[in-house]
Amino acid sequence: MARQADLSAVVRRIVAAMKKETVRGEVARYIPHLSGVSPDHFGIAIVTAAGEIVSGGDCRIPFSIQSISKVFGLTLALGNVGSRLWERVGRTPSDTAFNSISQLETEGGIPRNPFLNSGALVVADINLSGRSAESAIAELIGLIQSLACDDGICVDRELALGEAGTAYKNIALLNYIRSFGNISGPLDAVIDLYHHQCAIRMDCLQLACAGRYLMTGGAVLRDGRSIPEQVVHSINAAMFTCGLYDASGEFAFRVGIPAKSGVGGGILAIVPGVASIAVWSPGLDRNGNSVLGVRALEDLVQTAGWSLFVGGSRPMRQG
Ligand code: GLU
Repeated sequence: MARQADLSAVVRRIVAAMKKETVRGEVARYIPHLSGVSPDHFGIAIVTAAGEIVSGGDCRIPFSIQSISKVFGLTLALGNVGSRLWERVGRTPSDTAFNSISQLETEGGIPRNPFLNSGALVVADINLSGRSAESAIAELIGLIQSLACDDGICVDRELALGEAGTAYKNIALLNYIRSFGNISGPLDAVIDLYHHQCAIRMDCLQLACAGRYLMTGGAVLRDGRSIPEQVVHSINAAMFTCGLYDASGEFAFRVGIPAKSGVGGGILAIVPGVASIAVWSPGLDRNGNSVLGVRALEDLVQTAGWSLFVGGSRPMRQG
């Protein structure tokens, strides 16, 4: 198909360009198991609304999805408690780091948005809802496996334990939010769930497949439950405004689509109605976003004419 041929050529060009890049950022060092990952990796996978799959580079090497898991945690929580979630978590961008504690003091223990560590801890508390961390993580993994149609997706338990051993800031955040009454479950179970969800391993292809529901406006899961359009709308809006930490505004200018990054170097990006895209390169910029991941998305979206701000329904531009 001509269009897929075009997209394949664009992806081949981007993979070749990324291989040559010498400025690749720094891998996250504060999580023990991430510090040893080589910054030389680059992978990309695109699933289009027509069902085409185009991928390249290290698209089959699994990596730690880290904060991208917050997208799936939020999907579960919105399904569980609906819009009541927004009584406990805000939905505006923050101007502080993803693991900052300061905002919580002036805002009464209500995290600014669900993609900050503080917000994701409250979301984890909602998803725990009286169960063990083990059963809550099993539910989240089940959701992701169902979305990706891939039962091989799992948690890297050693990575989770490694992060837990040095998670002084996350523990401080959790205790601080609890002091305002915005955490109700046992603290050790909430943080256990959070660290295990961050340690989920996926490759670009699995991640792009799992993100399809955000492209198509919903999904019916294999247990019969469905993810409604309103949940997709909320998540894409949160990704767009808050998905790239402090650089979310800059990303909107440079790229112009909803996306969520993680300190493992992955980014899930959505062109609503058109494509679900996953990129991975472990080197991060000072905001914690993958240097090559952002660059590749900027190139792809500009080349394909996929920015949400240029109008038109966007088949791949020819020529
Ligand atoms: N597990 C990481 C943390 O809690 C996730 C950070 C991220 O990917 O933004 O710091």
